[in-house]
Amino acid sequence: MRRFLLRHALLPDGWHDDVLVEVDAGGMITAVTPQSTAKDAEPVGGITLPGLPNLHSHAFQRAMAGLAERSGPAGGDSFWTWRETMYRFAARLTPEDIEAIATQLYAEMLQAGYTAVAEFHYVHHQPDGSAYDDPAELSWRVLAAADSTGIALTHLPVLYRYGGFGARAPQERQRRFLHDAPAYARLLERLAPAFRDRGDRRLGIAPHSLRAVSPELLDQALEMIDAIDNGAPVHIHIAEQTAEVEDCIAWSGRRPVEWLLDHCAVGARWCLVHATHMTDAETARLAASQAVAGLCPSTEANLGDGIFPAVSYLAQDGRFGIGSDSHIGVHAAEDLRLLEYGQRLLHRGRNLLAGRPERSTGRRLFDAACRGGAQALGLKLGAITSGCRADFVCLDEDAPALAGRRGDAALDAWIFTSTPQSPIREVYAGGRRVVENRRHVRAGDYAARYREALDRILQE
Ligand code: ZN
Repeated sequence: MRRFLLRHALLPDGWHDDVLVEVDAGGMITAVTPQSTAKDAEPVGGITLPGLPNLHSHAFQRAMAGLAERSGPAGGDSFWTWRETMYRFAARLTPEDIEAIATQLYAEMLQAGYTAVAEFHYVHHQPDGSAYDDPAELSWRVLAAADSTGIALTHLPVLYRYGGFGARAPQERQRRFLHDAPAYARLLERLAPAFRDRGDRRLGIAPHSLRAVSPELLDQALEMIDAIDNGAPVHIHIAEQTAEVEDCIAWSGRRPVEWLLDHCAVGARWCLVHATHMTDAETARLAASQAVAGLCPSTEANLGDGIFPAVSYLAQDGRFGIGSDSHIGVHAAEDLRLLEYGQRLLHRGRNLLAGRPERSTGRRLFDAACRGGAQALGLKLGAITSGCRADFVCLDEDAPALAGRRGDAALDAWIFTSTPQSPIREVYAGGRRVVENRRHVRAGDYAARYREALDRILQE
């Protein structure tokens, strides 16, 4: 049992001072008492927030951030030309590289205020497409990165089988990603024991997209995971690109979100990643489903995806969380800011996602992203309350950007001002202090290993 005394903290019912937080040996909170006078607790200064879950990550893509920012030989760059760069990059990675990149990334996430991540993991096999001796080799590398850094992990092995709608044959350069149903079932069974009785890990599934699975395979995958963990998280990329919407209509007569809502019992266990292109009717149905929309504003901007209909969706109590996806930006505050800024540019107004008069936009977005993120990860975290993981993000009250601010004003300053130095001074994950003085406690080791991997990969 450990005891912390938080000087000024955001709890589910608002801001409090002198909050005593008791934490068990598994890193979970057992009691929270505001206005405590406890003398024997470890003091946690500054302005303390719960850790934000990051609900969408492809860890290996961290290492190619910035490599697709030159226009191609034919011009007309798009998501699809970016994908070609990504395929070439993914083809070169060894298991050691995957671990080095994921470890560096997860340490950066912790420094940025993310204390949990849903890893949408789709590089499974050797470069020639054959399985590793242990078919879960690359999943173990991701788990090792999470364990080393302290980040909580929902692991989502991706089911990728086809190259397009209507069960089209996959492409050669997708061969590291592919499973048929029996191989995917074996992968899940092999991984399952590593997730039992862990408050900081959950195993779910990620059918890659409607173009990468058939309706039958999607149903089979749901049966497979329910046999292991009934109700475990299900994440899927959907309606990110207009070409994907057009292909889906040509295949089925329906739009992607419409098709999914018609075909599957989409509810609270589901996370629909992007869901950028929806009609008003789809937006209303998704909001009513209680599923989480997985929004990745920095990646969606980088890839030119489009703008999610957040004003309408949130007005209908739609649930959402934030992901850093391709990791072109790894910054919790920045993704929340970009979510609001996309709407401001589109609708030419301000504070569009505050939800009601005289409410802090930052507070509304932060609370909703913590709640939606925790739901999408299927883990008890994202709030400083009994039963949740002891994840604290401590802002430096002496940072000039936060001068004179407390409570929601400090949260707004963190989210909406962009300063060269992050105000995040310390981060605790599962009751363990993993970021001290703005750096992960093992940042130096991780960065050295990461640079070594990248020097080799980019010379090849
Ligand atoms: Zn993605």
